[in-house]
Amino acid sequence: MTRHSIPFLALVAASILPGVRGSAQAVPLSALHQEIDDRTAEITDQVVSWRRDLHEHPELGNREFRTSELIADHLRSLGMEVRTGVAHTGVVGVLRGGLPGPVVALRADMDALPVTEMVDLPFASRVRTEYNGQEVGVMHACGHDNHMAILMGTAEVLAGMRERLPGTVKFIFQPAEEGAPAGEQGGADLMIQEGALENPRPDAIFGLHVMPSPTGFIGYRAGGAMASVQTLYITVKGRQTHGAMPWGGVDPIVTSAQIIMGLQTVVSRQADITKAPAVVTIGQIDGGVRSNIIPDSVVMVGTVRTLDPEMREKVQDGIRRTAEGIASSAGATADVRLTSPLPVTYNDPELTHRMVGTLERVAGPGMASEVPPITGSEDFSYYEQEVPGLFFFLGVIPDSIPLEKAASNHSPYFFADESALPIGVRALANLAVDFLAGA
Ligand SMILES: [Zn+2]
Ligand SMILES: [Zn+2]
Repeated sequence: MTRHSIPFLALVAASILPGVRGSAQAVPLSALHQEIDDRTAEITDQVVSWRRDLHEHPELGNREFRTSELIADHLRSLGMEVRTGVAHTGVVGVLRGGLPGPVVALRADMDALPVTEMVDLPFASRVRTEYNGQEVGVMHACGHDNHMAILMGTAEVLAGMRERLPGTVKFIFQPAEEGAPAGEQGGADLMIQEGALENPRPDAIFGLHVMPSPTGFIGYRAGGAMASVQTLYITVKGRQTHGAMPWGGVDPIVTSAQIIMGLQTVVSRQADITKAPAVVTIGQIDGGVRSNIIPDSVVMVGTVRTLDPEMREKVQDGIRRTAEGIASSAGATADVRLTSPLPVTYNDPELTHRMVGTLERVAGPGMASEVPPITGSEDFSYYEQEVPGLFFFLGVIPDSIPLEKAASNHSPYFFADESALPIGVRALANLAVDFLAGA
């Protein structure tokens, strides 16, 4: 008990602060920070055991049934208002503080991947299931088990301080971040459609992802932090003819080769790469059936990654113009189709600058810094289109593993150091409290 008691002088100072209504008294921020540290230390073993349990029982996107129950039971045990079944298996908990103030949301993703775990751990996953008609292993190879355990711990820490919280904290546990199974909807987009950001609507949202950097290192970035993704389909239509007499038709294979080379200039000559990086990759090309037939058409499939919404428009236009122009010069046509973009994970610059001090304090000297953008993607981007958000990275590679040998997320060897868990809890709890207090 004494570990949570607020120093007497702090209470005296709080009681003379003006402008606070309600029965509870405002407490100096430094006392709340100390209370977060103390409460986190008390529940760290519990957070580790949640993480191990979740790791041993991974579930694929939109199938997080056991996971969802575990989370909902925990939030209910803390006396929160809990909504379940949001976007299939999502859980939303609302914690109303004892003092008036804004609303902040914290998000964790819940899904595992069709990966067979190769890490030798007592709690390694042995789960197998069917995915797209194939039998696969299931593993938390992206580390979402850590995100959930961290957010469950954060919920417990903040629930214990409820009377002293100046506002409301919303806990969003989201399924299917890696994408919904074929033919289904899911993920952040569906969570928003099903009201995860309503009643109450948050004024800001925070989330984190574990990364292969040193344990406890916190990386952040204002503006575009993770890429927008679009799949690119180009169908080049020529005219079929004999391979020995190409002048009798229009060759879509040579035209496709020119288009692939031409597309390299969209990034290297047309995009302002001082502003943000961009990637255009053709990963698949299908055309032709035998050596002496020039086929009628070729289909190419690729991926486009951008980090700036304006640049995305320019890159899209450049791809269209380049493919269509080159095709037309050959007497062929190019039909260019881009899927609607998964948005850029765009961290609100003002919010990011405001919260950097919190992240630096939590991480400790030299353990938090700005990081380069990542050309991978995150559907946290959908929440950030609705409310100002900050998505940051937490390192989970222990000193014993050289960084260049550390397995990346999605690898069957991906391994997260549990000593990063309490740092994650303190990061989210401190961000929530500092935001609510207007720090
Ligand atoms: Zn992932
Ligand atoms: Zn992930």
